[in-house]
Amino acid sequence: MSAMSGPEATSLRHLPAVAAVLATAEAAPLLERHGRAATTDAIRQAIDAAREALRAAPATAPSAAELAQRAQGLLESRAPSLRPLFNLTGTVLHTNLGRAVLAEAAVEAAVAAMRHAVALEYDLDSGTRGERDDHLRALLCELTGAQDATVVNNNAAAVLLCLNTLALGREAVVSRGELIEIGGAFRMPDIMARAGARMVEVGTTNRTHPADYRDALNADTGVVLKVHTSNYRIQGFTAEVGARKLAALADAAGVPLLNDLGSGTLVDLSRYGLAKEPTVRQAVAEGARLVTFSGDKLLGGPQAGFIVGDRALIARINRNPLKRALRVDKLRLAAIEATLNLYRDPDRLAERLPTLRFLARDKAGIEAQARRLLPAVAERLGMAFAVEVGDCLSQVGSGALPLDTLASAALRIRPRGSQRELEQLAAALRALPRPIVGRVADGALRLDLRCLAETDETPFLASLAQLDTGSLAAHDP
Ligand SMILES: *Cc1c(COP(=O)(O)O)cnc(C)c1O
Repeated sequence: MSAMSGPEATSLRHLPAVAAVLATAEAAPLLERHGRAATTDAIRQAIDAAREALRAAPATAPSAAELAQRAQGLLESRAPSLRPLFNLTGTVLHTNLGRAVLAEAAVEAAVAAMRHAVALEYDLDSGTRGERDDHLRALLCELTGAQDATVVNNNAAAVLLCLNTLALGREAVVSRGELIEIGGAFRMPDIMARAGARMVEVGTTNRTHPADYRDALNADTGVVLKVHTSNYRIQGFTAEVGARKLAALADAAGVPLLNDLGSGTLVDLSRYGLAKEPTVRQAVAEGARLVTFSGDKLLGGPQAGFIVGDRALIARINRNPLKRALRVDKLRLAAIEATLNLYRDPDRLAERLPTLRFLARDKAGIEAQARRLLPAVAERLGMAFAVEVGDCLSQVGSGALPLDTLASAALRIRPRGSQRELEQLAAALRALPRPIVGRVADGALRLDLRCLAETDETPFLASLAQLDTGSLAAHDP
């Protein structure tokens, strides 16, 4: 570093020290609110930034009070990164946005379990130790027709645990048409390897026949696996062995069939205008010894993985030491129990379960909502953008019903100027205290209103009101 002289060095010398800033009246409320460590840290950052600025361009050094205000800005700009946002992407179960939004009953149950002690592993009747699974076992059996049930961290964990329990050091038979990757690093062959099972592939990508499975079964087979090809379809010249037939075939060889449904659903979705998906109850009735499915996909609950089926096999799973590593906590158990309880009253399910409510919304209602919001949004965005109501297609998301899109309506925002303005607008909306996340496609920002509850309209407009429209235009040269 070179020695400095002149006005630059002078103003640097006048830069207040940390202790001086801490002693200002402006720093007192910061210390009260954020504590000494965080406040000191922010002040140090503010001083460092001021020093850099003075080195770059000589000016008068900021006062201690001014630096305290800058530190306040730094402290308060740290909004929680998991803060609520508006999911206007059109994907109802968006994995990157936390999938299902929980029912009010589930929220209340989770809050109560957070705030108080609960009988998590305690039997209130006898006053002795109880089991974590007892809270859900009866409900899951009632809703699925299975003999027994357990729950783990997510469906990936459920599949891992089942494979490890049934096929450690043994063979796991699976069709080549079902060796899926569902995103992230979840690929069926890798999960099998980590579970300690030797994968035995049968059939071909497009066609697998009963004889293919039959020929593969032997004394070393631990499990036959059927996987719901959640996020893709094979069409054309295809053949697969249905679950019922496969269960009979596996049973005859004394091998259990594990049916991984992926999303899974507890109700017939066609009742709500959606495509028909086999229910968990059907999968159980078809004879699979174990059926696995997710808690936060179509089911609309918190992240969880359910394993339902044969009592003896569930008992083996519960004895597997991995079960302990994959268990769920009291918050989620409380939320799951409350969510499952809603399924006991199917007539009111669509009102109470946000996932189903969003999925079942008809286009006319969404379009009316878009028309209602259009004037306020257009006015807020100003002359730089054209806003209109347009048609769009929502998706279920999370690999559930991948080919079934839902007719929906959106606010379509186009820049009157350059495409860059649109990117800036999308970024500014994402930077709001309660971010608004849409989708940029075909030169427009599309806000699909399917997941905007009526009660969220006012908060949505309030959030939009915080948009700094001036800065949008100002950035453009
Ligand atoms: C989504 C899915 C999983 C994983 O479920 P998570 O709950 O996301 O862990 C496993 N198998 C299939 C077929 C799936 O669709």
